[in-house]
Amino acid sequence: MRDETKCLHEGYTPENGGPGVMPIVQSTTYRFDSTEHIGDLFNMPNAHMYSRFSNPTVECVEKKIASLEGGVAAMCTSAGQAASLMSVLNLCKAGDSFVSTSTIYGGTVNLFAVTLKRFGIECIFVDADAPAEEISAAFKENTRCMFAETIANPALAVADIEKLAGVAHAHGVPLIVDNTFATPYLCKPFEFGADIVVHSTTKYMDGHALQVGGVIVDSGKFDWTNGKFPEFTEPDDSYHGVVYTRDLGAAAYIAKARMQLMRDIGAYPSAMSGFLLNLGLETLPLRMERYCQNAYKVAKFLSNCDKVSAVRYPGLEGDKYYELGKKYLKGASGVISFDIKGGKDAAVRFMDGLKLACNEVHVADIRTCVLHPASATHRQLTDEQLVAAGINPGMIRLSVGLEHIDDILEDIKSSMDKV
Ligand SMILES: *Cc1c(COP(=O)(O)O)cnc(C)c1O
Repeated sequence: MRDETKCLHEGYTPENGGPGVMPIVQSTTYRFDSTEHIGDLFNMPNAHMYSRFSNPTVECVEKKIASLEGGVAAMCTSAGQAASLMSVLNLCKAGDSFVSTSTIYGGTVNLFAVTLKRFGIECIFVDADAPAEEISAAFKENTRCMFAETIANPALAVADIEKLAGVAHAHGVPLIVDNTFATPYLCKPFEFGADIVVHSTTKYMDGHALQVGGVIVDSGKFDWTNGKFPEFTEPDDSYHGVVYTRDLGAAAYIAKARMQLMRDIGAYPSAMSGFLLNLGLETLPLRMERYCQNAYKVAKFLSNCDKVSAVRYPGLEGDKYYELGKKYLKGASGVISFDIKGGKDAAVRFMDGLKLACNEVHVADIRTCVLHPASATHRQLTDEQLVAAGINPGMIRLSVGLEHIDDILEDIKSSMDKV
């Protein structure tokens, strides 16, 4: 099946006479005939047992997303942050390190640099655009994985996934890619060598700004038996001696994440969230195509506007990441960042003058929205610090929505005229 078809048909197959739409299984528990059957589940949880770590509705969505990414298994989480956290915690313990590119979502930077540090896990940040040798030099003996973002939020840098996977694999560790902005419709990181994909499903996958969620997907291709990952190849005492690679084969990574981390932490979505996420996914390909078309027209307009000093959009000819975008992306998604002349004051005036586009702390909403990093997410920084962080005081992050393109452009034009 192609992506459009998978989005509608993967994950749930109605039984004869059963509901045509995936039902919401709103139950914490599942009943079994015998004590023995339940006892067996504590050795090998191969059925739904308790909704802290699996649920039939959410499972349908997990299957759909795994299929869209071309992976073998997936696990949904209650937020994108929980997916990023667990993707790393499934490999790193106190005393370990991992490498991450520095152009990643701000919330992930904090998770890696501050919170995981308190767990005793060190994150080594590298410049994603650096040559492979330089990135390779950052790896240590205790480095257990590498993390990158397909299209970085908000820098809009496109990751050279093949290069990064090559470096990670040379060190015997997997590459984890946050594929949130691209979605599997625009990029399938597994085809370029990534081993694990994570998403904030809050963004384009849900698509309607309804609910926060995340997902981890495993390609099933990484060799956990290479000697570096004994917790995959030696018996797990907390499951009466399960050996993940021996007993679960290609699905070892997701099984371990669910059986250890999700069991203990419980950051699992509700059945209702699974249902809503599925509803969003059904139209993902249609929506992504339109986001890309609309955003390209807006990026073109902004690049010809004399009040704008710079536009970053990997789909725009001449953009620093245009060539990488052509290689890795079927489209550049709907997010643009641009610098307005006149700095912070001009940016604020432009944003306050918008009538259609909403001022909100979100991105990848179905409705066009704008955010001014200098007065919101990066508010605590001085103008000098902002520039050092690569954020111009006049930079605006614009998430182009699915309104009619002429309405979006008229709104931007009329507000720009007043700046
Ligand atoms: C929003 C976002 C996250 C965090 O996801 P939440 O669902 O908000 O927890 C992670 N990565 C990227 C690229 C994001 O845009």
